[in-house]
Amino acid sequence: MARFSGKVAIVTGSSNGIGRATAILLASEGAKVTITGRDSERLEETRQAVLKAGVQEANVNAVVADITTSKGQDLIISSTLKKFGQINILINNAGANLPDASGNTRSNCAIENLQKMLQLNLQSVVEMTQKTRPHLAKTRGEIVNISSIGAGPSAQPQSVYYSTAKAALDQYSRCTAIDLISEGIRINVVQPGLVSTGFSTAARGLSAEDSLKFYNSMGEIPHCIPAGYCGQPEHLASVIAFLADRKASEYIVGQTIIADGGTSLVLGMHSVFGVKK
Ligand code: NDP
Repeated sequence: MARFSGKVAIVTGSSNGIGRATAILLASEGAKVTITGRDSERLEETRQAVLKAGVQEANVNAVVADITTSKGQDLIISSTLKKFGQINILINNAGANLPDASGNTRSNCAIENLQKMLQLNLQSVVEMTQKTRPHLAKTRGEIVNISSIGAGPSAQPQSVYYSTAKAALDQYSRCTAIDLISEGIRINVVQPGLVSTGFSTAARGLSAEDSLKFYNSMGEIPHCIPAGYCGQPEHLASVIAFLADRKASEYIVGQTIIADGGTSLVLGMHSVFGVKK
């Protein structure tokens, strides 16, 4: 029997990158999946990719929604329940390092930027957790939150608010894991390092082509990524699936797995982005 057979998964931020690869993996291993994001064209690309992996159309639920809105969250959850009848797995993956409107990049970014960053990377996860909790308790379900090595312990002066939001997400996950495990729900966290996705396009305003060049060039710098190459979404999807698979990881509760090709061991990012003198 397929690993996720009989399970229903919601993967937020699955119109691109890590979320897309995760949705494809979970669905191709038997899960019924709700895929979601704001961009309907990219969401359809994900849907097609899931179908191409051999998944039946009836096992995919595509929902265009903004995860930072209550309406969007409710739609994702209600349509999943309507189509599949239950929720077993919640992957809180949607996130971004949102550019500051004033063009600042470091600790002088506007407070509005901080608020947006917290709303997307922390608050939406808290809200999705609260709203799915009764459904996940019924199925003894799993939550996997996607954080970042930016959460620390090393400083990330080039992405202060994003890193702060992800650090808060990590501590929220640990604290909440204690409450939820008593209801049979597990929460764990994955911290990716650099992964070749649309993330840099959003964060640094790069074109898709320049973004790819950036990721490839970072992979060639051993003191940034000791593994010698930039991560691909599939590298993260397999770690996320491990934590979403109770049989494989049942005794892991409230923990964080770093998947970064060794970046956090060498802390070489600052040599590229520059520490302010
Ligand atoms: P992508 O930009 O490729 O994907 C981000 C996804 O999040 C998209 O599907 C996007 O959908 C969705 N999203 C963003 N904002 C919203 C919103 N307001 N409402 C709904 N969906 C939203 O990046 P990644 O795949 O790399 O990012 C996935 C996760 O991994 C994020 O949490 C990110 O912080 C984390 N991460 C990524 C790293 C990397 O190097 N790539 C490094 C460390 C962490 P849409 O645009 O359609 O709304």
